[in-house]
Order: sequence, then structure tokens, then C-alpha cells
Amino acid sequence: MDINNLQEKEIYDNNINDFDEWKDYKWHLKHSVKNIETFERLTGIEFERGERNKIQKTIDKFPVSITPYYLSLIDKENYKLDPVFKQAFPDPNELIITKYDMRDPLHEDEDSPVECITHRYPDRVLFTISNKCAMYCRHCTRKRKVGDVDYIPSKDVIERGIEYIKETPEVRDVLFSGGDPLMLSDDYLDWILGKVEKIPHVEIMRIGTRMPVVLPFRITDSLVEVLKKHHPLWINTQFNHPRELTDSAKKAIDKLADAGIPLGNQAVLLAGVNDCPRIMKKLMQKLLQNRIRPYYLYQCDLTEGLSHFRTPVGKGIEIIENLVGHTSGLAVPTYVIDAPGGGGKIPVMPNYLISWSTRKVILRNYEGVITSYKEPDSYEPVFCDRDCNNCKLNLKLTGAPEYKATGIVKLLSYYDRTLSLTPENTDRINRRKK
Ligand SMILES: *Cc1c(COP(=O)(O)O)cnc(C)c1O
Repeated sequence: MDINNLQEKEIYDNNINDFDEWKDYKWHLKHSVKNIETFERLTGIEFERGERNKIQKTIDKFPVSITPYYLSLIDKENYKLDPVFKQAFPDPNELIITKYDMRDPLHEDEDSPVECITHRYPDRVLFTISNKCAMYCRHCTRKRKVGDVDYIPSKDVIERGIEYIKETPEVRDVLFSGGDPLMLSDDYLDWILGKVEKIPHVEIMRIGTRMPVVLPFRITDSLVEVLKKHHPLWINTQFNHPRELTDSAKKAIDKLADAGIPLGNQAVLLAGVNDCPRIMKKLMQKLLQNRIRPYYLYQCDLTEGLSHFRTPVGKGIEIIENLVGHTSGLAVPTYVIDAPGGGGKIPVMPNYLISWSTRKVILRNYEGVITSYKEPDSYEPVFCDRDCNNCKLNLKLTGAPEYKATGIVKLLSYYDRTLSLTPENTDRINRRKK
């Protein structure tokens, strides 16, 4: 099978009268496939009774919703092994809950100062402004919230989120996510982006959306007109397989790129979907061809119902090993594990630094060449005591404000006396408290 030559299949030719409807995103939302019967009718795939019951049980717990567009990409002849099918259609394995699975593995609900904000990192927040999605990805990390009416953020709630950002001057980066923020109407988005943009300390805004993948027709000219009013705005999307880069997807991406919106991709490493260096390399290269910069490759989270999608971490390392040096540096995403318990994203990479002495480091490259890099004999270390006015470096610090050192940076510094970071509830520390 040549993955480069697969086109968007138009199985709907017989089902709609006017082909223009196919390009109308509202038509797709209205006709999203939400049950087994419709799926069977439209694809000609038939499940046997036992299988059907199991699928139904899965849907009862985790609802299904597939846009006709994304449905049309399923390879019907070989659907069981199809990466598009696997991302869209329920698998009874979702009902398996392993010992380590969690409802909210990233503790997003805990790090939430107001209802729809997760404030985890020093200078940026996650703002969940929508709980709806055009398609319910089976591998969703926020599976617990999918389709749950309790999580629809009201305008009140969103206003409180905006208020929080206003009152929190360290927030310089606002990341809109959801759900899919592009499920909101153009006008409502315009209103939210405009409000946040006006906050003086907000430097950039980002939108995380899977619309270019699951419903590219949502990227209308009028939406693009709204988005380009609010620069600097960055968009990250989630292509997981090269086959998802169809002509329609490319057109949507082109519109966004032409509007001056920098595009990134956050792929998720999924067993049976893209856990293959060959597919991943093609995906990354195709993204670059379409002006999308691979940003993250995520290790699959420990969310309940995702056990069948998880790979060992070694698979991710192997994929990165197959990219670094072998293809454009721009094609290499940062492979991250989002730490269970709310530690945030932790990058994991193959090891290139093999050994070192006081004056030399030993490195290896992608081919296995082992090399040495001689470090300078005469680097005069700067012991930064934060007395910038008497610093012998003259680095023109105007405009680069002081920051607060946290975490490992604190240990690395000379101006802070912290010697170690100690976990709170070890036996040793608890004994001290007594
Ligand atoms: C991923 C994430 C961000 C953004 O992280 P970047 O590494 O800056 O892309 C911010 N907040 C939360 C809670 C996140 O999960």
C-alpha cells in the first residue's frame, strides 16, 4: 500500500444530493455517526452479534462520534487494522481498567484555580473553553469529560477564567484547549480571543485543535478572518498518521498558514496506529511539507480505557532515534511523557552524551560514530549572585525581567542557598515532624 497515494474517499456520493454539503462543516456535525447502526449502514461493515454487544457496552460508557469526513478515510476492506478506524471507533478493550489507570492522571482538576483553568507552569495556563469535539478520539486523555454535559463551560465560567488571567500577571501565554475550541462559533471565539488579547501581560495565545484532521471544512474563510485579527496566535493540531493529510486537510492547513498562523503538531504515540519508525518519519516529513512543525510526540497517558493504545517508552525512544540525524532536524518533535500526578511534560530522548571528564565530553552520533569534544581550558565561570548592576557581563538586560528560580534551576544557581529538593512524605521527614 502506498501511503502517499491514498485520497479522501467519498463514500458519501450516494448519500447526499448536493456535493457542496460535503464541504459544509455544519452538515458534518449534524450527521456525525453516533451509533453502530449508522456506522454499519454507511460503511457496509457488519459486526456479528457478540461483538456488537461488546461495542454497545463500550459506547454506553464512552460515547462515539465520528464526522462523515473522518469516517470516509477508513479503509473498509481492512478496517480492523486501520489506523483511522482505531482512532475513531470504540474498542471493547476500552472497558479494561488496569491497576495504574486513572480518571484524571494529569491532575488537571487539582491544579485548577478556577473552573476552566489549569495553572501548572510558572508563566502559562491551559484554558478549557469548550468540552465538545467534532470527533471523539478513542485515545482522548480527557475521556472522563467527553460528551458530559456537566463540563460545558458557561459564559460566566469563561469570564471567570479571563478574570483569573487578568489578575495573574505572570501568565504570558494562554493555551486554549478543550474539547476543541473551534467547536465554538466564530463570534464567540472572536470575543474570547479579543478579551484575552487585551490583557497587557499576555504575550501569546495558542489554540489546540484537531479540526484540520477530523473536520477540515471547519477552517472556513470567515473563521480564518477572525483568527488572523488576534496575532500572535499559534495553532497546534494533532495529525497521528500520514494518511490523515488528505487534500481537504491540506487546504485547511494552507488557509491557516497563509493567514500567518504558525502551525505545530502534537502527535500521540499509539499502538497499532503509528508505533512504527517508518510511518512516523513519513508523518513528520509530510507535516513539514505542509508548513506544520512537529512539536511534541506524546507518550500515551495513563487515562482509564487507553491500555490497548499504550506502547513501552522504548518505542518512542526508538522512533526519535530513527529521526535524529536521519532526516531534517525540523522533523524531530520532542518526545514527552506527561507526568502522572501533575508534574507536567517531561522530555525523554535517546542518550547522545556517553561520557565526560573535566575537559572533554564523549558523544555519539546517529551512525554510531563516537567522538570527543574538547571543552575550553579558560572559561571563567560567572558566579551569579543576582547583583546585576555589578555584573561583569554586560548583556544589556533591559527588557529581560528578573525571574524567580524554581525547581532544578534553584539547585544550579549560586544565589539561592537551597541544597536539595526533598520529597515531603518520606518516613525520614515524617519522623522529624513527630
Ligand atoms: C501542555 C500544557 C501546557 C503547555 O505546555 P508547553 O510545554 O508550553 O507547550 C500548559 N499547561 C498545561 C496544563 C499543559 O498540560
